[in-house]
Amino acid sequence: MTEIERECPTCRSRQRFRRLNTAEQSAVREKKGPRFYVGNLWRCTAVRCLWYQPYLNRGKGGLLPEGFREEAAP
Ligand SMILES: [Zn+2]
Repeated sequence: MTEIERECPTCRSRQRFRRLNTAEQSAVREKKGPRFYVGNLWRCTAVRCLWYQPYLNRGKGGLLPEGFREEAAP
């Protein structure tokens, strides 16, 4: 899977990001409206981080709903 590195404003450090999956994309659409472009959104892969953003535009990012929080592997 393609990953990029970005500064995450929630983690306040450099993190790996991956593209949103379809469930995450539809959650963003529910919040931002059906016309919000979700094809170029990436999320921080840090455990318990919900930050997502367009590829280059941190100002248009946001937080995914709680259900998408990734817990640490047991
Ligand atoms: Zn993060």
